[in-house]
Amino acid sequence: MKQDDALKIVKVEKENDDTTSIYFSGPDMERFKNRKPGQYASIRIFQDGAWSAPHPFTLSSAPGDATLRMTIKKSGAFTSSIPAIEPGTPIQCTGPYGQFCKDIGTSKEVVMIAGGVGITPFLSVLRHFKDTGADNEITLFWANKTPQDAFATKELEELTRSLKLHVVHAFSRVAPEDQAAAPAFDDGRPGKISHEYGRLNKEMFLRHIASADASFYLCGPPPMQQAVLEELSSYGVDPGRVDKEAFVFSNPKSA
Ligand SMILES: Cc1cc2nc3c(=O)[nH]c(=O)nc-3n(C[C@H](O)[C@H](O)[C@H](O)COP(=O)(O)OP(=O)(O)OC[C@H]3O[C@@H](n4cnc5c(N)ncnc54)[C@H](O)[C@@H]3O)c2cc1C
Repeated sequence: MKQDDALKIVKVEKENDDTTSIYFSGPDMERFKNRKPGQYASIRIFQDGAWSAPHPFTLSSAPGDATLRMTIKKSGAFTSSIPAIEPGTPIQCTGPYGQFCKDIGTSKEVVMIAGGVGITPFLSVLRHFKDTGADNEITLFWANKTPQDAFATKELEELTRSLKLHVVHAFSRVAPEDQAAAPAFDDGRPGKISHEYGRLNKEMFLRHIASADASFYLCGPPPMQQAVLEELSSYGVDPGRVDKEAFVFSNPKSA
């Protein structure tokens, strides 16, 4: 691809101290039109006179959005360079790839479980559900260390108004004396937004999930996934029927 033909970054938006969304679009958008929510793509960004190495990220926008969006947490050198990127910067993007959440639109009862930035495929699905007027019952568990680590919380609150969505925030590093104070984004509507403290566990699932027969989707780092699958198993869900995505390169040398 010639540099002139590349997609361009049109907006860079800070989500919180560690996480930034980039939006991009251009003439090369046709092949993303029929993508599924929850899929990912691989990008290279033109920085300091050269193309970066390719890196995979979930497309966090809804498939119907006019621009593509990725929501990127600082991890190594490349991801730490994202907040300083300027609109107009050329970007190459291959994809879409992946099967995660492939059949989620057909599930009547959905349980989404995210760890940290593992929320991105679910943001894409929920944005798509809003666009398409989905009426399935959705429970979203989102595990973060602190309320400051959670982003897009206002949008999630708004989504609880247009979808049958219950969001359960689970914070693992909030001191007991601070737990009584509701996080700033609590809108005081019980049943729509809940707060739990500690790592996700069977008791939390018992409190918030109507049935172990729901369809389960899990995205987060491998150690978190393993712990959650053990808790789900003791709750009565066969880990084999949980649709899983880990943000891990299957072959880092080729990435
Ligand atoms: C399918 C998929 C979807 C993803 N979606 C998102 C998303 O929506 N948001 C987000 O913030 N991140 C996502 N990631 C993770 C993201 O790709 C990495 O965090 C990013 O590429 C790391 O770049 P870096 O800044 O560490 O770059 P570098 O500094 O170039 O990375 C340093 C080295 O660490 C190794 N490395 C980096 N990341 C990984 C990894 N994930 N697994 C194994 N080795 C690694 C590589 O070998 C690399 O050479 C996704 C990953 C995958 C596979």
